[in-house]
Amino acid sequence: MREQADKIELIRQKIEDADAIVIGAGAGLSTAAGFTYSGDRFEKYFSDFGSAYGFSDMYSGGFYDYATLEEYWAYWSRYIYINRYQDVENGTYRNLYALVKDKDYFVLTTNVDHQFQKAGFAKERLFYTQGDYGLFQCGRPCHAKTYDNEKTVRDMVLAQGYAIAEDGALYLPEGVMPKMSVPAELVPRCPKCGRPMSMNLRADNTFVEDAGWKAASASYVRFMEEHMRKKIVFLELGVGYNTPGIIKYNFWQYAANWQNAFYICINQGQAYLPEDIEDKGLAVNADIMQILEGLL
Ligand SMILES: [Zn+2]
Repeated sequence: MREQADKIELIRQKIEDADAIVIGAGAGLSTAAGFTYSGDRFEKYFSDFGSAYGFSDMYSGGFYDYATLEEYWAYWSRYIYINRYQDVENGTYRNLYALVKDKDYFVLTTNVDHQFQKAGFAKERLFYTQGDYGLFQCGRPCHAKTYDNEKTVRDMVLAQGYAIAEDGALYLPEGVMPKMSVPAELVPRCPKCGRPMSMNLRADNTFVEDAGWKAASASYVRFMEEHMRKKIVFLELGVGYNTPGIIKYNFWQYAANWQNAFYICINQGQAYLPEDIEDKGLAVNADIMQILEGLL
């Protein structure tokens, strides 16, 4: 076992020497960045839904089968607003950007909270495989387009009694009890067929792969083809075992098959390095925020 300081030094060296970095990011990265889905943040924005329906984290509330679309969108507009539009200021994504911004990099992520772009990462170097909280699509879907939802989401949270501070933070003015529904006219509907919209998230086979998604997918494939013989570092951050086929297993395979590849896995509690790439990789069981601060 290497000491943590040695590991950080090795990561620094590998990144410095690399021709290219491919970042693979999962939910653990956003958790490290402060986007927690239970505890204080849940209590602050969802205690009314939590006591009405008996859930205590945002994910569970997202799966709840609400009786009306007005209530469904009351829940989801708060959820989208605080996880997509409101900032959490612990600097993790910005530190990650500082680490790679002068390198040839690409990001593959299952995260849908848009934090890479907010931190400065170039859009053409990102592939959001699972969608984006900031996009609506037809719920059916009748056509393969997505729609920016910022204005609708803001209107929906304001209609529940919330206010938005100058820095973008959502808060309840004193004495206001939030409504748990939005007016029917704010329920988003498809501009082509009039059916209810849904979020552009890969939850089932209705997920719309729009032109932007297809372009990003093609960019990723091209990046990998162009760099297969180069000195490439696969930097896996907070990828768990919900959808390991998208990032983790691919990275293991690239690391094993490409002569000049090196694999780094940073994950609090779940870091793992397969035996066949033992000499071409590193697993760090630690908080991503702390490791990034150590690297800068
Ligand atoms: Zn439609």
